[in-house]
Amino acid sequence: MASIFARIAAGEIPSYKVAADDRFFAFLDINPVAKGHVLVIPRAEVDYIFDLDDDTLAGLYLFAKRVARALKAAIPCRKVGMAVLGLEVPHAHIHLVPMQSEGDMDFRREKLQLTAEEMQAIASSIAAHFE
Ligand code: 5GP
Repeated sequence: MASIFARIAAGEIPSYKVAADDRFFAFLDINPVAKGHVLVIPRAEVDYIFDLDDDTLAGLYLFAKRVARALKAAIPCRKVGMAVLGLEVPHAHIHLVPMQSEGDMDFRREKLQLTAEEMQAIASSIAAHFE
């Protein structure tokens, strides 16, 4: 059985898609710590990010760099923060979070409640800046 993130990348489970190519996929985190919280994943199904082969790991970070640029253009912020946790979902992923302050990277704090329309608008805006 494929992981939930592999099924999202395959389009079997809906998501607020931000960017994709044949190896990587980016979409909004369903429980964002900040507006524009994005997850970037490889389509390859590997749990632990540091078990990815070198080429996929490097490609994942380079893809995340392009997503971060689009994110910064779409959501005004001081910088885009990056984190890898992976304690909840066993499919390698990078969190990208537009930061105004250090607290925006606090994954323990209460998550934002955004409507489906707000989530779609955020995803579309980031997607429009992705190059
Ligand atoms: P981690 O594995 O890095 O500790 O956390 C997993 C992250 O994935 C969490 O921030 C959680 O909100 C997000 N997440 C879990 N399930 C889903 C899902 O089905 N869809 C989306 N878009 N995000 C999810």
